Amino acid sequence: MKILIDNGHGEDTPGKRSPKWPDGTQLFEWKYTREIALRVETELREQGIDVERIVKENTDIPLSERCKRANAIAVNVGVKNCLLVSIHNNASNTGRASGWEIHTYLGKSKSDEYATNFWDEAKAIFPMGTKMRGDWTDKDPDFDSNFAILRDTKCAAVLIENLFMDNQDDCRYLLSDEGKAAIVKIHVLSILKIAGK
Ligand SMILES: [Zn+2]
Repeated sequence: MKILIDNGHGEDTPGKRSPKWPDGTQLFEWKYTREIALRVETELREQGIDVERIVKENTDIPLSERCKRANAIAVNVGVKNCLLVSIHNNASNTGRASGWEIHTYLGKSKSDEYATNFWDEAKAIFPMGTKMRGDWTDKDPDFDSNFAILRDTKCAAVLIENLFMDNQDDCRYLLSDEGKAAIVKIHVLSILKIAGK
């Protein structure tokens, strides 16, 4: 199975960053997701997983181009043997929302099954009290979302919102060594399970 990693946003994307906290720390989504992506890829490769980054640039690559890149690889390896994982941090703009969530495209597909793998790992790995934001209206925990990266990719695709960067507690955890390790572990263990390792 081939794993495609999409790290959303670029250094030139407006917004997509946490407030600057009183201790001077700040999370930039493009930078954070690249750090997580690199760690996830490194660990997966060590486990023999075929993994490839869709966005190697630090700049914002348009969604249409990201889907084009993903589809070219997916068609090459066979769309059924491919999973795209898009890594993000959430923001509510109020600072009050918190928690972790995962999205798939509308309707039922293999992606929903894969998303449930991620959900189960996240639930097991996060410390007690971490909010798990599920949408159970269609009897599984992922949100059905009409996002281009989920809709316009030919292979299975999930998009993960790893906690809220504009919530101070979530952000502090995201930036901690413990938090980063947990986020990496959720992605690595989920993908290993999906790839049957
Ligand atoms: Zn994002």
